[in-house]
Amino acid sequence: MTARVLVVDDILSNVKLLEAKLTTEYFEVVTAYSGIEALAKMEECDPDIVLLDVMMPGMDGFEVCRRIKANPKTAHVPVIMVTALDQSIDRVTGLDAGADDFLTKPVDDAALFARVRSLVRLKMMTDELRMRETTGQSMGLLDPASTLVDASVSGRILIIEDRSESAAWFRSALEPANSASAVDTFEEALVRVRGGDFDLIIVSLGMRGFDGLRLCSQLRSLPEGRNVPILVVVSDGDRRKLNQALEMGVNDYLTRPVDKNELVARVRTQLRKKRYADMLRHNVQLSLEMAITDQLTGLHNRRYMSRHLDNLLLQSSKSGKPVAFVIMDIDFFKLVNDTHGHDVGDEVLREFSRRIAANVRGIDLACRYGGEEFVVVMPDTDVAYAYAVAERLRRSIETTPIDISRPPDKLNITISIGIAGSGAQDTADALLHRADQALYRAKKSGRNRVVADAA
Ligand code: GH3
Ligand code: MG
Ligand code: MG
Repeated sequence: MTARVLVVDDILSNVKLLEAKLTTEYFEVVTAYSGIEALAKMEECDPDIVLLDVMMPGMDGFEVCRRIKANPKTAHVPVIMVTALDQSIDRVTGLDAGADDFLTKPVDDAALFARVRSLVRLKMMTDELRMRETTGQSMGLLDPASTLVDASVSGRILIIEDRSESAAWFRSALEPANSASAVDTFEEALVRVRGGDFDLIIVSLGMRGFDGLRLCSQLRSLPEGRNVPILVVVSDGDRRKLNQALEMGVNDYLTRPVDKNELVARVRTQLRKKRYADMLRHNVQLSLEMAITDQLTGLHNRRYMSRHLDNLLLQSSKSGKPVAFVIMDIDFFKLVNDTHGHDVGDEVLREFSRRIAANVRGIDLACRYGGEEFVVVMPDTDVAYAYAVAERLRRSIETTPIDISRPPDKLNITISIGIAGSGAQDTADALLHRADQALYRAKKSGRNRVVADAA
């Protein structure tokens, strides 16, 4: 793994030392000697992670961190504060400023690389989501405002600890701001994570009955656990376990004795990150759905239908089962727009779509093909059956007027329908063309009727 690291320190020798260490491990290093320079480099160099000195003249590290996290362009970049002090109060100040981790000077190599690698790995997962989300936004599928995350966070937390006093301490520290529950066996932990919808899992690595690390690796492989952050608790000085945990991809850690404020601050950070990742995932899902859906009617769009039809015809050429293709066009729809306005035209299109959806089976694919043209693709269906469905729909449109929001409150419309059935080795284009021809004949012969292709 290679990554670009921004090293910030006002003392030249400190910068040079970290730069040398990181370069040996093939990281790319960018440097800054003041808070102001660091903020400029953030935007210029797009680093994957920041190693940030706390004590600097002018703007100190806490303030720099606060500004990095307040800028939407840089908020997702992890920040490790490098400090000469190892006071809990400083850690809490740093966490509140948005810092992701801490290293104490003089910096231990193993700790440095473990933290940097772990945070960069976590960042890369979110970067992938962020990129897809940006694509969704640039395609006009998503509203950028929907990506703002609520700052007040609380969540459902599972504590895995078999020493009851310690478990009780964690619960009382986290409640009532969060809802916390504790389990004390390996099996129960798995069952709870599988069934529960947790926002954070805290795993003690000092349990008597079983190995917390082994549990972490199992949780990571569960579909229900994969996206839940894990915070491990290690004994102070147990570097080996801590490094193993970070290698495994746990999100954060606390060392015993645990400081309550630090716990609360780290939990808040993890919950906020999870909320952000959930929102990104949700938006990516949403943009996928929107890419295949027609915005006005909620039916599938033409692009989706074409792809789906290709698959169906391929299947049908193997199974020999026919596919019926039904194309519908509203009669004199231009007149509806011209007489009642485009908005009323849209209402008619929406209601017509609802009626189509209500008249077809679950396996049928209804889609908006273009302006006022709709298509239903019916797998395993012969032309006679499709004709019956089409005729029923045609009659229901003719006999039940469509409600509109303006006088005259109701509109009578009619539709014309063309149908074609797939033959052996039929292509989508050929099928579509025959259905279109049938529709043309329906229009020609007076509209408000269903015509099936003769073939
Ligand atoms: P025909 O019976 O021959 O089908 O006549 P028609 O007027 O329905 O056909 P034509 O193709 O001339 O007109 C279709 C109209 O549909 C023209 C276009 O403005 C309108 N239209 C297309 N998309 C939309 C839409 O999303 N909303 C509304 N309100 N109108 C649309
Ligand atoms: Mg029309
Ligand atoms: Mg038309």
